[in-house]
Amino acid sequence: MPTFIVLLGPPGVGKGTQAKILAETLGLPHVSSGDLFRENIKNQTELGQLAQSFMNKGELVPDDVTIGMIRARLSLPDCRQGALLDGFPRTIPQAEALERLLAEFGGRVNHVPYITADESVLIARLTGRWTCRAHGHIFHEKNNPPKIPGICDLDGSELYQRDDDKNETVVRRIQVYFTQTAPLVEYYRKQGRLSEINGAQPIDSVTADLMAALKNK
Ligand code: ADP
Ligand code: ADP
Repeated sequence: MPTFIVLLGPPGVGKGTQAKILAETLGLPHVSSGDLFRENIKNQTELGQLAQSFMNKGELVPDDVTIGMIRARLSLPDCRQGALLDGFPRTIPQAEALERLLAEFGGRVNHVPYITADESVLIARLTGRWTCRAHGHIFHEKNNPPKIPGICDLDGSELYQRDDDKNETVVRRIQVYFTQTAPLVEYYRKQGRLSEINGAQPIDSVTADLMAALKNK
């Protein structure tokens, strides 16, 4: 049976940071909807152009477009053993589409770690985030700084600040999270798949709590 893990939580709580660590530890591919959209923007695809107009405003990309992109990604052979999903699903229709899609592959959503932190923590994390151009490696100017400012420790590429990490877009993204994504907490809680994780701790403590929660389920 494949293992599918959905990392749930507001923007900036540390889903991407933890997903990269867990993907390596668990040997599962990291599937990030935000990274897939940014890859499409970089390659100037039609999907990228469409997504960009929503992303720049801090709004969600329409469900049909997002679900189609994830379907294509999860259909690749490396996801036969499962995947660590980061940033998807973000709406109830996306979660329902994911159930149907995984059923086709003989799988289901096994675990949903829900990482939380206060809004002030999220804003400080997003506005101080620096992202690597080549592979989306994640740094923070104070909490997790690169060894050389502006350069990715892991691949030497340039670090940049995402357009949607500017203050006004950040506030909108957090609002969108509360209205459109937060209902997923109850959706997965009812199914008994949710574990709550305190995201307002140092990165390695969050990782330890995540590993313990996954072992328990
Ligand atoms: P998300 O994918 O949930 O939006 P990220 O993993 O990109 O979140 O993290 C947002 C920012 O916060 C990044 O700059 C990252 O380096 C930093 N960060 C992540 N986890 C922690 C943590 N536990 N403590 C302090 N800073 C963190
Ligand atoms: P964050 O670091 O806030 O978790 P992401 O990189 O996951 O941000 O997402 C960036 C943007 O990409 C979102 O604000 C949204 O516009 C779009 N996006 C990512 N995932 C989804 C999704 N599942 N549904 C709709 N839009 C999405």
